[in-house]
Amino acid sequence: MERYKMIAADGTPYDSDTPGTLGGHRSSRIYGRLNCPSALRAIVAGGYVKHRVFFADEATAAAAGYRPCARCLPEPARRNTITLSVTVAT
Ligand SMILES: [Zn+2]
Repeated sequence: MERYKMIAADGTPYDSDTPGTLGGHRSSRIYGRLNCPSALRAIVAGGYVKHRVFFADEATAAAAGYRPCARCLPEPARRNTITLSVTVAT
C-alpha cells in the first residue's frame, strides 16, 4: 500500500494511507491542489517527489507555515498579498 507523508498543523510529519486534500513542497513551503498543473509539471520533470508532502486541509497547511500556490489557489494567495500590504502600510 502506498504511504503519504502528511504534515500536521504543528509542522510534524506523519505517514498516512490517504493523501489528504492538498499537496505541498517541503523545501519551498508552498501548498496547492493535488492536481496543480505547476506541481504535476515539476513531478514529471523529476526532483520534486522526494520533497512532496500532503495536508489534510488548507487550515492545516497554513498553520504549518506553508503558503498557498498562486497558480492553483489564487484566492488565498491574493488574501495573503492584501494582508502583507496592510502590514507594510501600518
Ligand atoms: Zn499550484
